[in-house]
Amino acid sequence: MIGGFAHDERSHLLCILGGKVRHLRPRNQPYKSECIMAGYTADDEKIIGEQFSELLAACNKICKSEADWEMINKAFFLAKEAHKGVRRRSGEPYILHPLAVAKIVVSEEGLGVKSTAAALLHDVVEDTSYTVEDIENLFGSKVASMVDGLTKVAAALNEDVTAQAESFRKVLLTLSDDIRVIIIKIADRLHNMRTLGSMPRHKQIKITSETMYLFAPLAYRLGLYAIKTELEDLSLKYMYPEEYAAIEEKLQATATERNEFMERFIQPIKDKLTEAGVDFTISGRVKTVYSIWSKMQRKKIPFEEIYDLFAVRIVFKPNDLTPEKAQCWHIYSLLTDIYPPKPDRVRDWVNFPKANGYEALHATLMRPDGVWAEVQIRSERMEEIAERGFAAHWKYKQEHDGEDEFDKWLKDVSNALRHPAGNAADFLENIKMTLYMTEMVVFTPKGEARKFPVGATALDFAYDIHSNVGNTAIGAKINHKIESIYTKLNSGDQVQILTAETAHPTIEWLDHVGTMKAKQSIITYLKRVRQNNVERGISIFDNRMKEFGITPSARLFRKLLPAYDCANKDEFYSKLGSEIINLKDIDTVLRQNSKNKVLKFWTFEIAGSKPKDIVVKGVRDVDNMGEQKFVAAECCNPIPGDNITGYKDPITGDIIVHKTDCEALIGLAAQKGENLVGNIKWSTYKAESYLAEIKLRGLDRVGVLRDLAQVITVELDINIRELKIQSHDGIFEGKISLYVSDAESLYSLMDKVNKIKGIDKVERV
Ligand code: MN
Repeated sequence: MIGGFAHDERSHLLCILGGKVRHLRPRNQPYKSECIMAGYTADDEKIIGEQFSELLAACNKICKSEADWEMINKAFFLAKEAHKGVRRRSGEPYILHPLAVAKIVVSEEGLGVKSTAAALLHDVVEDTSYTVEDIENLFGSKVASMVDGLTKVAAALNEDVTAQAESFRKVLLTLSDDIRVIIIKIADRLHNMRTLGSMPRHKQIKITSETMYLFAPLAYRLGLYAIKTELEDLSLKYMYPEEYAAIEEKLQATATERNEFMERFIQPIKDKLTEAGVDFTISGRVKTVYSIWSKMQRKKIPFEEIYDLFAVRIVFKPNDLTPEKAQCWHIYSLLTDIYPPKPDRVRDWVNFPKANGYEALHATLMRPDGVWAEVQIRSERMEEIAERGFAAHWKYKQEHDGEDEFDKWLKDVSNALRHPAGNAADFLENIKMTLYMTEMVVFTPKGEARKFPVGATALDFAYDIHSNVGNTAIGAKINHKIESIYTKLNSGDQVQILTAETAHPTIEWLDHVGTMKAKQSIITYLKRVRQNNVERGISIFDNRMKEFGITPSARLFRKLLPAYDCANKDEFYSKLGSEIINLKDIDTVLRQNSKNKVLKFWTFEIAGSKPKDIVVKGVRDVDNMGEQKFVAAECCNPIPGDNITGYKDPITGDIIVHKTDCEALIGLAAQKGENLVGNIKWSTYKAESYLAEIKLRGLDRVGVLRDLAQVITVELDINIRELKIQSHDGIFEGKISLYVSDAESLYSLMDKVNKIKGIDKVERV
């Protein structure tokens, strides 16, 4: 081999792999390198060879044909060559990392040949000059697309930490393409966590926090319990090294005593099950450091007060006589003959498998020392699912078809990924919520069980049935009693959703749902409505602009948006389309100098004296300090046309302008009548509109709000600033802040509002 010509070496190697590599198959034989390549020492070759033999041994389970073996060999060969000369921080050759990841993929995750090849190649495109096309040519499109996915995940995680939510979203995006990518990535992460010791501290912290935030929950969700547990344990070790060491030490110090106790606890179970003819294995497991630590945190207790340090697991080989389920309960009943059970702590994941596929029967029994101990009862099949998660689940699933909880979750995640709503952080929170949720079971009227996170509402249930049911939900019968759709459900509830054609989601609904599916559907609906409004708004606006012969420009919008109190074009179009604003006064808006828009001036006149400009509401004209000023009183908000009376502020000397019948003014007049200035009246005024408030009350009927909006925004040239409507017991109460040009148009508006069917009282505030 000639060194120094990376590109030539690469083409040469690709050529070898494409053709002659077939002769290299050392099936199950210790690997012997054909040629010692530059970058690997004899010691390297020895350890690489040993590791590869171990991988091949593990592959015995999955390689079914010559082509399978060839793929593994070829992938190893290419990876070894591509990473040649590169070492990990620990000093060992880099290739040992992909080898270890491939081994986890086969032995601990139970994935197949293509995934193992992809695991061997997972850093090749990211770190070396080989491309995805090279991989595709040599290994086919499946392996290539997995490697491509892994490369993208790696790139996303390398991005700026400030955009972490977005990087995580990108990581999760691969879930919907090929779930194996994430499973291989979890193996990669597990190996990196196992070898984290040689990393610098800041990297340890970054990698550990990603692991806790994303990868451990994902491993849990994919049913990879053993890996999830190890990831948590390793994370704790690097996050809180001292706490970790302390717990580990205490566990060791108590090990002998605990093991003896465990043996004494297990022995009677062994005897009983053997006597009953059950074919089983039983083992006691000490809790992990992480689970002990989190219990100490949760309950705020010291290590010494945690008694349930071990759990017992019984794995049985089912007989053909009765169903697995019945055998689980049979074993349970045998156990309760020995130790008293805690009846309310039976966890039946046999009838109701967890959403990640987990099945088992958990019993809590009283130990001779009076402490509760957990015993898990599983068949061999359940055990494999519990240990291997996803892959095993798929294997058994082929036996019975139909969508299960796992498919449903994956479908929800995929949907959410395809139609992202909200920002990346919201999205991530939604997904996260589904990763570690505590589940409860709720029943349909037909007795079908459905799983929900604790805290889910009737509305969540409605959306779980179908998005159309959710979108038209008006109430729920919970255990045959009519309740609001916002009612939180309890485990075991039976729920029936009541719908109405005319019902539809509102933004408020988002505060009353906990599931991703419900959130997603509501947002999709609201967005669609908004989109329709935006489209309508665009066409209204375009038509109007055509009338004026104006081509809309960025400059035009800079003028329009503030005038219509909109933050952006979308909001403008949407408000226009939904008739919150209209274009009646657009010519005025277009003509006016936008700089002056925000200030509202008007002029008062004291009878017989010269009119003076004054500034409203405490905004003072500094240049005119010292001169007589008129200020509109905030208590009654006089507007042109109102009868007004002035009150001279004894401190500032300003004249505060009140409506003549203002209660505050009447109070002032009673105390300090000498300060009243009676002879003032409206003069010319420059502002287009003044803020006024009206209150109304009436019968709540469908359409009343629409009629109201029609009167306010369409029939009269008035802008609403704020509209608050409350409805209770069939009564409708509202408060509207709006801009009017003078008192006359306000009263004419109030007249029109009063004529709306159902409204029985309108008054100015
Ligand atoms: Mn890697």
